[in-house]
Amino acid sequence: MTNVLTVHNPYTGEVVGEVPCCHVDDLNRRVETAALGAAEMRTTTLHERRRMLAASAGRLMEHRAELSALLTSESGKTIRETRAEVERAASIFELAAAELVGPTGDVLALDALPNGAGMLGYCMREPRGVIGAITPWNVPLALAAHKIAPALAAGNSVVLKPAEQTPLSSLLMCKLLVEAGIPGNALVVCTGLGEEVGAAVVRHPGIAMVSFTGSREVGVALPAAAGFKKVSLELGGNSPLVVTPSANLEAAAVAIVRGAFAVAGQLCISVQRVIAHRSVMANLVSLVSAATSRLVVGDPASEATNVGTLISSEACQRVERLVDDLRLAGAQVLTGGNRLGDCVYQPTVLAAVVRDHPAVHQEAFGPIVMFITYDQFSEAVQIANSTEYGLNAAIWTTNHDEAMEGARLLQAGTVIINESTTFRSDLMPYGGIKQSGMGREGVRFAMEEMSVYKTVCFGKPAQSVY
Ligand code: NAP
Repeated sequence: MTNVLTVHNPYTGEVVGEVPCCHVDDLNRRVETAALGAAEMRTTTLHERRRMLAASAGRLMEHRAELSALLTSESGKTIRETRAEVERAASIFELAAAELVGPTGDVLALDALPNGAGMLGYCMREPRGVIGAITPWNVPLALAAHKIAPALAAGNSVVLKPAEQTPLSSLLMCKLLVEAGIPGNALVVCTGLGEEVGAAVVRHPGIAMVSFTGSREVGVALPAAAGFKKVSLELGGNSPLVVTPSANLEAAAVAIVRGAFAVAGQLCISVQRVIAHRSVMANLVSLVSAATSRLVVGDPASEATNVGTLISSEACQRVERLVDDLRLAGAQVLTGGNRLGDCVYQPTVLAAVVRDHPAVHQEAFGPIVMFITYDQFSEAVQIANSTEYGLNAAIWTTNHDEAMEGARLLQAGTVIINESTTFRSDLMPYGGIKQSGMGREGVRFAMEEMSVYKTVCFGKPAQSVY
């Protein structure tokens, strides 16, 4: 039984650091600590929470360089991507602080029904208790912030189980948050293996809610394992982006390249399937191919790099197999299609992709973009929806009716008009339908999920009913 997890730099192969590999006993102790933290947080005033959340944002920004360098070395994401991620994490704490100003409940006009004559009520939100936060390796700081900040703002405590490939930056972030004033008992990290401590977080009776972000394969089994607790799931996707004849092709091409190759395509909302009208396909593919071939690929620590590494050699091999399968089925590799190192794969543009190939329906989670042709708008919608996922979808058009139809018919948690599928604002409700998840994040919406309504009813002055 190992007691240490070694973290490697996927680009250099060097050891970046070690963290404890906790086991179930360790988790149990941390949940006991977090239960004390939950009791502490419940009694804090909103003003105190606001102050600690705002101070957290400031503290993260002060340590932006250190956090981003560490995250780049353990994840293979480019330094520009990780710097932006630290800024985003800080801004999520700011948003959570801002959510605490203003109304937090509703007044109930109970006398609108006969049994409430003379009565008045109100409802307010109460914290759930200990929130179990399980996070993936690919956006570890911002996605942990999306759980920690709303959980604390709503008066809960948190046990965070970060992904085994990228725990170092999460540990550093949580240390900084505690230094900024978050009670140590209210934010506890438990590093270890998902199949052991992650699974134990899900089952633990002392945890009131599990907030999970990760793959569909892991997430799908969690509600049954969680028993009588709230579960929110942010899972994978294989986002479609529809390009209609009226679209601004130059702008669409820029958005496709940005959305397909950010984080080397390892985002749940990466642009994976471009469904383009036959009349614009040749122009669009040529614009995307040309821009893709100009991307600088490789050393994530270099300021010049646009596309960093995949997370592991296995991930790179999986992407290689996926491209080979599609190529064998008739797809044309217009750019890329080669492995450049143990964990580095060339950004790859695949044209004439067979729309029903099983690989099209999987989550590619790599630097690949697939082009599929359509003739009728209804056909584009049908292709876009022909997947078990439903996270983000985009439509590029200057035709108002098509935009409205796309918004209505595309099966997705978010439909984006004339932007990349990777667009996400941290203040909007965000999450999936179908097998992309259940529940919503985005600070205000996560706060709602992480709290419960308590209703208070004031009776009318004492009257005898007899
Ligand atoms: P993953 O393998 O599902 O792991 C996610 C987390 O779950 C990790 O902390 C992992 O621990 C833990 N885990 C593994 N087995 C578990 C179990 N049986 N019970 C409880 N927890 C368990 O996902 P990943 O490879 O880190 O991340 C990539 C996936 O996340 C992609 O599918 C991507 O689309 C998805 N994602 C979704 C969103 C969204 O907002 N919808 C955002 C980002 C990523 P270990 O690391 O120790 O295995």
